[in-house]
Amino acid sequence: MFSILKPLPTDPILGLMAAYRQDTNPNKIDLGVGVFKDESGHTPVLKSVKKAEAFRLENETSKSYIGLAGDLGFCNKMEIQLLGEHKALLANRVRTAQTPGGTGALRVAAEFIVRCNPNATVWVTTPTWANHISLFEAAGLTVKEYPYYDYENKGLLFDEMITALKQVPKGDVVLLHACCHNPSGMDLNIEQWKIVAELAVEVGFTPLVDIAYQGFGTGLDDDAAGLRLLAEYVDELIICSSCSKNFGLYRERIGACSIVSSDAKVADVANSVLLSVVRSIYSMPPAHGAAIVDTILGSTELTALWHQELAEMRDRINGLRTLIVDSLNAQGIDQDFSFIKHQFGMFSFLGINKEQIDRLQKEYGIYMVGSSRVNVAGVSHANIDYFSKAVASVLK
Ligand code: PMP
Repeated sequence: MFSILKPLPTDPILGLMAAYRQDTNPNKIDLGVGVFKDESGHTPVLKSVKKAEAFRLENETSKSYIGLAGDLGFCNKMEIQLLGEHKALLANRVRTAQTPGGTGALRVAAEFIVRCNPNATVWVTTPTWANHISLFEAAGLTVKEYPYYDYENKGLLFDEMITALKQVPKGDVVLLHACCHNPSGMDLNIEQWKIVAELAVEVGFTPLVDIAYQGFGTGLDDDAAGLRLLAEYVDELIICSSCSKNFGLYRERIGACSIVSSDAKVADVANSVLLSVVRSIYSMPPAHGAAIVDTILGSTELTALWHQELAEMRDRINGLRTLIVDSLNAQGIDQDFSFIKHQFGMFSFLGINKEQIDRLQKEYGIYMVGSSRVNVAGVSHANIDYFSKAVASVLK
């Protein structure tokens, strides 16, 4: 039966990673894959994580299953990190399942939506993280897009976004990026979040907030401010979170799917469905990543160390944004790149064309995805000159 299968194209980012690995140019720069990198181009294990792992190695007493919802200490701490001291927590309206990464959280959310309304459409930003579309479609849901990034003016198409969201049928789901929008780096400000929250109530759509970069934009609380505001307005909300970036736990696959319901009774029913979804996909999540996060967030000392490390990663990203703009300006390029300074997280679109992207790759070994999305953390003080000279040369 396998012989009927047709080969599928490689995922563009994974293909780019492979091409980068094979490139023998000693000056090559990888701006493709979405992981944080330090000044030497390395994705480090955080010290707080190492300490938590040492503690775990010492204290772990069993490898038995951890249950459908995963590590309950982790789930509880994630709810507080996401929602702060929000009333929904106090009213016992939130239920959380630990998931294999943010991707696992999104897939669980997709199946949960199918159980609520198999005919729901999930509305995503244009553009969005490409996997959003695949994940929801794989669960059998229809995916449609609403305007978001203004490629021409490097800002938001907010009025167009609101006009489109007003047309969303009641019972559909609208996916919002909490912060550090992937791929554009363009975030909603708090006034805009308020307008979206009011609209969700008026129109009757269910928001799904994807928060994969909490702490990478302006801070742990600030990056969740829009989500928290939304939670004050709506009765029902889905939150998919990831600890891949902010804890640097990428390969440990740790995230969470949280369902906020209108009251504790509905929340219990929603939880039973959430756990049944989990059971039918992977039964139980892996333990290690959750144990690390639970250990860090359960210790004042480790939390302080993690906050410091997170701030270092954030400061590096924001510092690189300024460095990139200044360095490109110093090349005397006409094109205005100042927007990069006003965007958040690891990604921005350079806004250069396909031919220029190809030349950067072939002539300079500088790799970015075909949309011109760059991971700013791939730049360093050591390679910034090479990078900006190369960009200047392909723009001439
Ligand atoms: N959501 C967004 C917007 C992302 O960019 C990513 C990672 N690229 C994820 C979710 C999933 O993250 P992970 O599965 O690695 O935790």
